[in-house]
Amino acid sequence: MMHPNRPNLLALRKLKESGLRPTRPRIARARLLLEGGPRHGTAEELFQEARAVGIPVSLATVYNTLHQFTAAGLMTEVVAGSGQSYFDTNPTSHYHYFDKTTGEIIDVPEDAIQFVKLPEPPPGKVIDRIDVVVRIRNAQPRASARKPGTEPG
Ligand SMILES: [Zn+2]
Repeated sequence: MMHPNRPNLLALRKLKESGLRPTRPRIARARLLLEGGPRHGTAEELFQEARAVGIPVSLATVYNTLHQFTAAGLMTEVVAGSGQSYFDTNPTSHYHYFDKTTGEIIDVPEDAIQFVKLPEPPPGKVIDRIDVVVRIRNAQPRASARKPGTEPG
């Protein structure tokens, strides 16, 4: 969501903190991505959103921006579905539900997942981060799970 009259303070500060040069187009993209509150979107969805608020970007630019912001620690990338990437505007460590029915990514409540045991990383390695995707679907039984010939009637 854009607030055209608000100063670009948050976007500007985040860009500076992450070491990215705050050019005018980059500030516009950072405002769109980082000032709308925590959310998840595919590059395509964020591209449509940018166009809808009049930010003249190409899909390639959106991809570049997302990868740049992810590398700079401003966002994280969540891979779910069949290799589909979702970009998360909350860069802190947290876990996700992936709803197979709607294709949506939702945050798992904080502290709802606890690790009892983690593997010792190989020599010379440290654990950088842990991704957890809990796959969910609508609770109705799946039609494909029914065996042929078992339908009533
Ligand atoms: Zn998230």
